[in-house]
Amino acid sequence: MKTHTRVAVIGGGVVGCSVLYHLTKAGWTDVVLIERDQLTSGSTWHAAGGFHTLNGDPNVAKLQGYTIGLYDELERITGQSCGLHRSGGLLLADTPERMQWLKMAHARARYLGLETSLLTPSEAKQLLPLIEEKYFVGAMLDAADGNLDPYGTTHAYAKAARMAGAEIYLKNPVTSLSRRSNGTWDVVTNEGTINAEHVVNCGGLWAREVGRMVGIELPVLAMEHMYLVTDDMPEVIEFNRERGHELPHAIDFKAEIYMRQERKGMVLGTYEKACVPWSPKNTPWDFGAQLLEPDLERIAPSLEIGYQHFPAMANAGIRRVVNGPFTFSPDGNPLVGPVQGLPGFWCACAVMAGFSQGGGVGLALSQWMVNGDPGFDVWAMDVARYGGWSTRSYTNEKVRENYSRRFSIRFPNEELPAARPQQTTALYDVMLAAGAVMGDSWGLETPLWFAPPGVEPKDVVSFLRSNDFPHVKAECLGVRNAVGVTEIANFAKYEISGPGAEGFLTRLMTNRLPKIRRLVLTPMLNPAGKLIGDFTIARTAPDRFLMWGSSQAQVYHMRWFQTHEPADGSVRLHRFDMGLVGLSIAGPRSRELLARLTDEDVSNAAFKFMDHRSLDIANCPAMVNRVTYTGDLGYEIWVAPEYQRRLYEGIRAAGKDLGLIHFGMRALLSLRLEKNFPTWYRELRPIYGPIEAGVERFVDFNKPDFIGRDAALAEKASGGKLRRVSFIVDAVDADVLGDEPIWHDGKVVGWVTSGGYGHFVDESLAQGYIPAELAGNLRDGAFEIEIIGERRKASIISEPLFDRAGERMRM
Ligand SMILES: Cc1cc2nc3c(=O)[nH]c(=O)nc-3n(C[C@H](O)[C@H](O)[C@H](O)COP(=O)(O)OP(=O)(O)OC[C@H]3O[C@@H](n4cnc5c(N)ncnc54)[C@H](O)[C@@H]3O)c2cc1C
Repeated sequence: MKTHTRVAVIGGGVVGCSVLYHLTKAGWTDVVLIERDQLTSGSTWHAAGGFHTLNGDPNVAKLQGYTIGLYDELERITGQSCGLHRSGGLLLADTPERMQWLKMAHARARYLGLETSLLTPSEAKQLLPLIEEKYFVGAMLDAADGNLDPYGTTHAYAKAARMAGAEIYLKNPVTSLSRRSNGTWDVVTNEGTINAEHVVNCGGLWAREVGRMVGIELPVLAMEHMYLVTDDMPEVIEFNRERGHELPHAIDFKAEIYMRQERKGMVLGTYEKACVPWSPKNTPWDFGAQLLEPDLERIAPSLEIGYQHFPAMANAGIRRVVNGPFTFSPDGNPLVGPVQGLPGFWCACAVMAGFSQGGGVGLALSQWMVNGDPGFDVWAMDVARYGGWSTRSYTNEKVRENYSRRFSIRFPNEELPAARPQQTTALYDVMLAAGAVMGDSWGLETPLWFAPPGVEPKDVVSFLRSNDFPHVKAECLGVRNAVGVTEIANFAKYEISGPGAEGFLTRLMTNRLPKIRRLVLTPMLNPAGKLIGDFTIARTAPDRFLMWGSSQAQVYHMRWFQTHEPADGSVRLHRFDMGLVGLSIAGPRSRELLARLTDEDVSNAAFKFMDHRSLDIANCPAMVNRVTYTGDLGYEIWVAPEYQRRLYEGIRAAGKDLGLIHFGMRALLSLRLEKNFPTWYRELRPIYGPIEAGVERFVDFNKPDFIGRDAALAEKASGGKLRRVSFIVDAVDADVLGDEPIWHDGKVVGWVTSGGYGHFVDESLAQGYIPAELAGNLRDGAFEIEIIGERRKASIISEPLFDRAGERMRM
């Protein structure tokens, strides 16, 4: 074994081998993989080997498409067979809602360039005669689905990596990790220590244990998973003889099963409701090439429905049952990327679909390590999307929920109940008493909307406009016509101070910094000039700044800040987390309300738009920003958590005769749509530049230097490829949700990022990206947006429908 390497990959499952191969492909060949036992001896060896492109996140779907396309390349390079069967797959809908879901998936596949088609039940039966047609209302065919040999594929990755210079050490467990003062890692193994510049945790079933070696508890848990393999089936033999090819894969959502051909029989796997975690706390080190005890009782309800839906399966003998563990994160997507606070320590674990995702994970991680950036949008699988609230028991509850819902529809207005409430503010019970329907915002209970007296505070889940519609409307009108109060504790808040703070922020942010007691809005770019953040910054002293940003991205942003902070200790970074909480008041009467809560002058002359003040509000020491995402007159009031209740009660009492109403996140997001304001994670993501996103006015090109400046200048010169635009949509009973295709002249030209109903302006609105050259096409109905399979007329609106001159914010 070497004594030094650039990268030590821990774990020789399909993911570790893919990471190793991709590192060599990206040009780093001084890389090693250290495996406890043999390659594939974690969850990889007993996988069913299926692959598919479908994923709830389009960017992960793209990476799955990349993975599936890679296998031919691997076979070509190595001569090692991956055992590919590209048979295509059917997704079978048993209800109209499921068919709506498939129509949306099909629509999204169009702009992802995937080959899917919608079928009637009889067309589906033509392709898969095992189906009992009467149980289904339709299907979607995904041509890219197939299956492979897990062992052969893992070895193909490993061989390709070795051919490029990587070394693989087998039968050699990593027992501990320690960081040297020069930032490199000592990887201690049974056969000695290897010093590595980077370590990648590809520990699969042991990812938690490898994480614990560096003092972190990763949100990952293994679940037992069963599939059975049938004896040869005459129906399968007959089909193969007649058609000359294999049966397609199938997913039956109702039965919660997946199926595919295996030799002359079938494989049938289940994601049963009564699912069981495996080794919830510690994975035994001596677990190896062994299986778990099958429990057919547990999957009996799925089999019962499956046997009705596919009668031939009921008559087939069962050759063997496989029960093996594999890992999941709370939302089911992988945990990939550098770990905040541990430079040089990377993760590529919780990959639940190694043969759909392993290639994309390897590609993303290798680019990230070699170039400092994954090269595309990997937010949905970034390890930084979880915070300290994702404890082991939280993870356990969420993973079980996710597993048992693997084949369930997640409606856009559906909040999942497991492990909630996890974090609450001091106003939780008050908000519930006021009729709040709560949602989860980065582990924090946050009011979504308020049910008036007599209305049950509960969402009716649907793809269409739902029961919250009139109530969210009332909240929006209440804000626009008088004043509303909402909780904003979920925002991310930071303090950046010290003699180096100004220089640090100047280099990171695109906008100039504010004067003392003023605010600025500013994007943050990566070196490629893509958007990686969007902040409000206040300056309270020459060397002290407060900053607000997206709640979900706080670990992601802290990781970026820490990577770029000066080594001389001249900058202090502090993330408040729930140590600073807030309420926002917004609407034309919000100043009157604020004036009743303080003896300071809050007139427009004394407290202007984009001012920041430290004030006593309702007896509480508070920081107040004159800004609101509603696009109206408004204020964000920030206090320590122990004051939040006092502040709220003060606002309630003072606002009684001003028409004060509660409003929730859904109203806030609707109100911002009326102003064409973008939102982080939907419109602002690392795949767009500032010109494309229409946030150029927050980029100060007069600043001599900031990260991404050159790339942003180049984008400005070229105009960028895409443009964010807002549309009025000719919608009837359903608004856009995000990810719908945008059509122009009979072709898909773009995609929707977010949208909904603008209640005050009384229009259905959408935002999305289209080619820049089409953004000037203001012709009425020049575009169409596909909502649940139907193309709806859409017209670009170049100016916000509400208060286009921005007078309300400044009044
Ligand atoms: C029954 C079943 C069916 C499945 N079907 C499919 C399917 O059809 N399609 C699909 O895509 N996926 C399927 N999967 C999931 C798939 O198996 C996983 O996504 C994949 O194996 C994950 O690979 P990995 O490399 O992350 O983890 P693992 O395969 O668990 O590999 C981790 C490796 O790390 C090594 N290791 C851990 N700690 C150390 C250490 N300290 N030192 C050295 N080495 C260490 C282990 O020995 C192991 O070899 C299935 C899983 C099961 C159980």
